[in-house]
Amino acid sequence: AAKAVGRNRFRVFDEGLLRSLEMRRDCERDLSRALAEGTLAVWFQPIFGQAGREVAGLEALVRWHHPVHGWIPPGDLIAAASAAGLTESLLRFILEQVCTMMLTLRARGLGDVRVAMNVSPREMAQIAVDEIVLGRLRALGLPLPMLEIEITEETALDIEATQGKIAALSQAGIRLALDDFGVGYSALASLRALRADRIKIDRSLVTGLTAVDDKRGLVQAVLGLGRALGLDVVAEGVETAEDRATLEAMGCRFMQGYHLGRPAPAEATLRMMADLQASAA
Ligand code: C2E
Ligand code: MG
Ligand code: MG
Ligand code: MG
Repeated sequence: AAKAVGRNRFRVFDEGLLRSLEMRRDCERDLSRALAEGTLAVWFQPIFGQAGREVAGLEALVRWHHPVHGWIPPGDLIAAASAAGLTESLLRFILEQVCTMMLTLRARGLGDVRVAMNVSPREMAQIAVDEIVLGRLRALGLPLPMLEIEITEETALDIEATQGKIAALSQAGIRLALDDFGVGYSALASLRALRADRIKIDRSLVTGLTAVDDKRGLVQAVLGLGRALGLDVVAEGVETAEDRATLEAMGCRFMQGYHLGRPAPAEATLRMMADLQASAA
């Protein structure tokens, strides 16, 4: 009896852990089928220029609705892919959706809209991201500067495994953005090492900046840094009209966030862009 109680207790205490282990196991098991059947999706979130008046770019964000566990956070999905030996398959799948979006944009005369995809430190270190990306864009006749790759400082810090690939991408003309800027610890050094084209200020510094003096100060400082180094700066996590106005007044040109546009499937994103064009004309 004591044993049974013990086991029960164990079960109660570790229910959360068990659930997350189950989720991991199921994701690893189901991911290859999701890739093959295309139940995995890539959504796009607009990045606005002109302080919110034009779509300057789109960020590709992976989405997976698991039949049992619901929406899987992208970080968990990337980890499951790695555990299942599917890191390269997943990257190729996302790249394919990104290329399709770029081809569609060009066909609609929107070839100056940049498309960004995220590459995790793990992906950059483990697979030949440079060869895969350059090979695919060249095969499709897509202009290399139309693609932006978003990496974090963590990637830049793993110099040995990633520097050659990042340099190859950037020398070929692929744009580089340093994502989640401002929450790491050696951001200035990584900016130099990477020769990034763009900085994306982490949303923890942006959301609610109107009401928080030190956030506003930090964002102002990053905008100044961008001007000094000739880099574009994107503010992520713009959730209110108030924050948007504050950012505009501070001279921030590029913004991304729920207030301006949420991530959506490709079709809905293209429709939104067409509507915006029509109402501007
Ligand atoms: P990220 O690259 O910084 O992407 C921005 C995240 O912020 C997205 O979350 C987006 O949905 C969310 N977001 C955008 N605007 C707002 C806002 O106004 N308020 C709030 N609260 N959130 C906002 P998501 O899609 O869950 O992605 C989370 C992270 O997972 C991404 O952060 C990125 O690092 C990673 N990720 C997403 N898709 C991919 C992918 O295809 N490949 C890789 N390697 N990583 C990905
Ligand atoms: Mg990103
Ligand atoms: Mg970010
Ligand atoms: Mg982030």
